[in-house]
Amino acid sequence: MENWVPGFLAAFPGGMATADPEELARNAGDAWLASHLPQAVFYPESGESVVRLVQWASHSGVSITPRGAGRGYVGGCVPVRGGIVVNFSRMNRIREIDPQDGVAIVEPGVITAQLQEAVARIGWFYPPDPASAAESSLGGNIATNAGGPRCLKYGVTRHYVLGLEVVLADGTAVRVGGRTHKNKVGFDLVGLFVGSEGLLGLVTEATLRLIPRPPHRVCAAAVFPSIESAAGCVEAIFGAGLLPSALEIADRFTLERAREFCPEPLPPGQAHLLVEIDGHPVGVDAEIETLLPLLRRSGAEEIQIGRGDEGGELLWRTRRSFSMALKASGLTKLNEDVVVPRRRLVDLVRLGSDLELRYGFPVACFGHAGDGNIHVNLMVDRSQPGADRRAQEALDLLFHRIVDWGGSITGEHGIGIAKERWWPLAVSPEVRTLHRRLKNALDPKGLLNPGKFV
Ligand SMILES: Cc1cc2nc3c(=O)[nH]c(=O)nc-3n(C[C@H](O)[C@H](O)[C@H](O)COP(=O)(O)OP(=O)(O)OC[C@H]3O[C@@H](n4cnc5c(N)ncnc54)[C@H](O)[C@@H]3O)c2cc1C
Repeated sequence: MENWVPGFLAAFPGGMATADPEELARNAGDAWLASHLPQAVFYPESGESVVRLVQWASHSGVSITPRGAGRGYVGGCVPVRGGIVVNFSRMNRIREIDPQDGVAIVEPGVITAQLQEAVARIGWFYPPDPASAAESSLGGNIATNAGGPRCLKYGVTRHYVLGLEVVLADGTAVRVGGRTHKNKVGFDLVGLFVGSEGLLGLVTEATLRLIPRPPHRVCAAAVFPSIESAAGCVEAIFGAGLLPSALEIADRFTLERAREFCPEPLPPGQAHLLVEIDGHPVGVDAEIETLLPLLRRSGAEEIQIGRGDEGGELLWRTRRSFSMALKASGLTKLNEDVVVPRRRLVDLVRLGSDLELRYGFPVACFGHAGDGNIHVNLMVDRSQPGADRRAQEALDLLFHRIVDWGGSITGEHGIGIAKERWWPLAVSPEVRTLHRRLKNALDPKGLLNPGKFV
């Protein structure tokens, strides 16, 4: 193909289009290992500018890769075939927050925590809370259907997307859904675009559902003698009729790294369970009264309590630091966000220990125990001969076992390029064909985020 870049820059004067080498480098990778330079970057400032760009790209046969904040974990926004990266960071306005209708209307480049804070200031709540909330964008969260600790009680991003404006591969802008909390007109097209990893359309606006902010919360961080006893306690909590707003587990290796990394003191112990209960104060206190003896009966050796936003935040700060603490170990962290049916939780944490013994590198497990969604982190010293091969073998074993158990190879991060190798393992040939047919129907020229799993 002839060099289209000068024509592209000429077609979009005024600072939205660039081929500056530093800009290309800034838009080449995400939080995973892969990176590839685009030939140009486009910084749209409105939905209309996205329409014009996509019309130009469709006419010229140039591929487009949407990019939010570039904090994905699977290389989803990496432009593996070059082309144009559409970086949404300038479309970062919260257009409306309306408590009466319980909605917020946002541009895709808004950073998730900014919306959470803006609605919290007026007593409202946007629950989806990926650990990357301070950095990732709502457009990226929508395209990956991001989850987080509070999704146990409140659901994932999909449950908070009421309406979308999407620019399709031929440059047509469509509005799907709306600002009502229920809507059953036609197919669930909002659901089609949520989690579509930038392969079916570019999200240029989202109408999100807000709910009243629970007025009170209490966190209990319990120390257990083993990861198995902590995992076993999860079932007891549900069995007692409790639905915590978060139920997070962490293993020994993760806690050891966190002790080195965090300023907050962390009690000793082989495993931790962090349980958060939220709601009205009287109800929360009653549930905590049920929870504490239950934790002790399940083997908890020590329990720290954090009351209210401030007390809870101290415990959460430690939890949120796990990822950074593991990274600070200097080892390469291969973070797999696998999900198992909850009855397999103990088996999953045991599998982590088995992988450690068999392949000779540490495996750190932490995450959303209440959802059966555990981050299994292979901590690999890639300078060691054969380390990459052993890591791939360990991942093969992990994913095969997860699928055998009826689990899912990704609960949050998506497929992108990181999990492409296991995409055929995870879904049937018929389901892969269905993905291809949907992709062909919406993007027949294959210009949106090409080179990914479909
Ligand atoms: C420290 C850390 C912790 C994390 N914790 C969590 C967690 O708890 N839960 C979780 O779910 N994830 C987590 N992640 C992964 C990541 O943050 C999420 O996947 C997040 O949603 C990515 O958002 P982003 O804006 O960075 O998107 P990007 O990485 O820029 O893009 C992600 C995907 O979305 C597409 N995309 C982006 N914007 C648009 C748009 N406007 N229209 C169409 N497609 C678009 C891209 O093409 C790409 O396929 C974590 C990542 C890190 C680094």
